[in-house]
Amino acid sequence: MNTRYPYTAGAEESDDGLQQFPESEEGERRSSARAWVDAEGYLRRAQRILAITHLAPDGDAIGSLLAFGRGMQSLGKAVTMACQDAAHPRFNYLGGVHDIRQSGDGAFDLLVAIDASDLQRLGTIFLPVEHSRVPMVVFDHHITNTQFGAVNVVDSNSASSSEIIFKLLRRMDIHITGEIASALLTGIITDTLAFRTSSTTPETLATAMDLMRAGASLHDITRRALVLRSYDSIHFLAAGIMASQLDDGIVYATITRKMRKDMGVKEERGDAGLVGTLITAMEASAAAVFVENPDGSIDVGLRCAPGLDVSQVAFEFGGGGHTVAAGCTLPGPMRDAVNRMLARLRRMIREQ
Ligand code: 5GP
Ligand code: MN
Repeated sequence: MNTRYPYTAGAEESDDGLQQFPESEEGERRSSARAWVDAEGYLRRAQRILAITHLAPDGDAIGSLLAFGRGMQSLGKAVTMACQDAAHPRFNYLGGVHDIRQSGDGAFDLLVAIDASDLQRLGTIFLPVEHSRVPMVVFDHHITNTQFGAVNVVDSNSASSSEIIFKLLRRMDIHITGEIASALLTGIITDTLAFRTSSTTPETLATAMDLMRAGASLHDITRRALVLRSYDSIHFLAAGIMASQLDDGIVYATITRKMRKDMGVKEERGDAGLVGTLITAMEASAAAVFVENPDGSIDVGLRCAPGLDVSQVAFEFGGGGHTVAAGCTLPGPMRDAVNRMLARLRRMIREQ
């Protein structure tokens, strides 16, 4: 279960032992003006910042981390950017990507967590003994965020964490260089699938326009961050599609370690976009992809049709995400993970 960070005021356990995330009446999470002021205060006072994004980072994780790091460095602060896992080589076009470390060692007076919905998502970068003495500011857009920082700027109306970092840089009068603009537009493009998700708002488009004016190339970033893929991953996707099943409105596929090895896929993680492809079936109310990890645990990627909510499902299993796109990790073996999750998804559809 989620480790508590000492400053936390967050998710509660309900009577049935399942975690519930705190929600406003509108069923959304919007950060208070107070949180913004407090966050800015912490950042202005800090000298040595450890900025951390979530493990298995996607484009929004890398983009928002780099933009934050570069922005704060321009104020003369020492910023260390860290992530448990290396960025995918597709993001090598981003300036500063090679400065991201895979360790949280060092002396810091402020921790900043970006695009992570709970402390576990920081993985091995968070060092419980050393870091529990240092305040943490959280910037995130997941509706399941457990408010694990001393200050939590969490806006689930924001399509990406990159838009939140854009707002932060603007608030602090930090110049948006071409490098920062490319990082932020990468986050927006990847989390909105190039402005196609229900989370895309007029503000998302306005921010993208500002970033293009600051020097980011929309077509180049879309191609590099979203469109281009390895030939291997196309095979992987094809095999996953062929192995998928449609059952009671749920399209799902399992990817075992053996399948990955037999296909010669070099990458150890990820579903190559399979779950996002499966949910495009008209017949699907929900899609799930189960990927067996090297340690035998099972990563589950979840998607659902509008009107349903997989974020609550993922959260109950210790994960998190957004209303229509979420994920969690379950213990193996594969068959048990699949049975548990399919039963829960059937209930979600029944109770719609
Ligand atoms: P994807 O299926 O694209 O990997 O993830 C979809 C969404 O769910 C993302 O917002 C991602 O951050 C979130 N997510 C995926 N796996 C996990 C998990 O194990 N824990 C949490 N907290 N969120 C997850
Ligand atoms: Mn994100």
